[in-house]
Amino acid sequence: MANSLTDWQDMTATLPDDEQAMLVALRHDLHAHPELGFEETRTAALVAEKLAEAGIEVHRGLGETGVVGTLRRGNGHGRIALRADMDALAMPEHTGLPYASQNPGRMHACGHDGHTVMLLGAARQLARDGGFNGTVHFIFQPAEEGRGGAQRMVADGFFEQFPVDRVYGLHNMPGLDPDEMAVVEGPQLASSDRWEVVFTGTGTHGAKPHLGRDAITAAGAFLTAVHTIVARVVDPLAPAVVSACALSAGDFSALNVIPDTARVGGTARAYAPDVRDQLEAELNRIAQGIAATYGITARFDYRRGVPPVINDPDATARALKAAQRALPKVRRAFPPSTAGDDFAVFSQQVPGCYVWLGNGPAVDGALHHNTRYDFNDAAIASGVAFWTELVRSELTD
Ligand SMILES: [Zn+2]
Ligand SMILES: [Zn+2]
Repeated sequence: MANSLTDWQDMTATLPDDEQAMLVALRHDLHAHPELGFEETRTAALVAEKLAEAGIEVHRGLGETGVVGTLRRGNGHGRIALRADMDALAMPEHTGLPYASQNPGRMHACGHDGHTVMLLGAARQLARDGGFNGTVHFIFQPAEEGRGGAQRMVADGFFEQFPVDRVYGLHNMPGLDPDEMAVVEGPQLASSDRWEVVFTGTGTHGAKPHLGRDAITAAGAFLTAVHTIVARVVDPLAPAVVSACALSAGDFSALNVIPDTARVGGTARAYAPDVRDQLEAELNRIAQGIAATYGITARFDYRRGVPPVINDPDATARALKAAQRALPKVRRAFPPSTAGDDFAVFSQQVPGCYVWLGNGPAVDGALHHNTRYDFNDAAIASGVAFWTELVRSELTD
């Protein structure tokens, strides 16, 4: 059932009032009951219920708590996937909202409650009104916040069970208006890796340092040297971040003891694969070099997390067209972020595009992962309109 332009334009109606009210109420309910990665049992059950209620085929269990909804219309061969993340963060909430978190130490501080609801709204609208010809898979992914939800879904056979030509992701962004999007080709989010160095010397009496080999002094030298990687080794035109975020050695109740070991750890971020390799190699080189200088040893560990999110040119052009049809304001330039998103695990397999949807001004300066952050309900209709339009303009064969 291929539709002419006029047909689907007529169908791109705004959300019915009762559906809009249901989505807002559901968003508040999810916000009040945040769940951490791979623990989203309540959230996943609600998602599955709302999909099934609309007659959408539901597949559960991929990536433990993941849910995939599938809609097919007509005989079109096009297949796309749209992804929303469902998890919350392990942090307290201080918004004072009537629907604030009821789970102590858990908070939807990244707006994934909004992402979930917007994709649900679009799935239900498409199930109701159609207007496309092909197959769309709605991915409700667990554990985006550093727990490897996308990796788990892919490892569990997402692409084998749900083969797709392209994949799309969306994240809310404070500072843009709720009826505004940014759709930009190229790097959006950085790779996110963890590194750790353990310097091992010979512990001794604090009064007799000459009888030992001091790992703490080596760690201090390492911390200073580590910042020369971005400043002196990486191409100044290639973004990179190396941050030391944890440090431990010795004991404050034993200030006359030089300990055997000192441990330093942190994060490394980049957009280009060669820069990522460079950060790993240079961190190790400096750790080993400092250890040699101080006559001690260094054990270096580098754990690769998510790859960078790099928007494919063709997928970006398609997302841009849909955004321009759905919303009044679309930015084609927007600075990338040094945060990461495991959407990259999907978009490494097939061409993909990750877009930003406005969340309005940052209220009281609260940004993502702040104890006072909240998703803006005014963006729900925009997100639903974009996703719906994207499916209709993508699946027209
Ligand atoms: Zn986040
Ligand atoms: Zn997020």
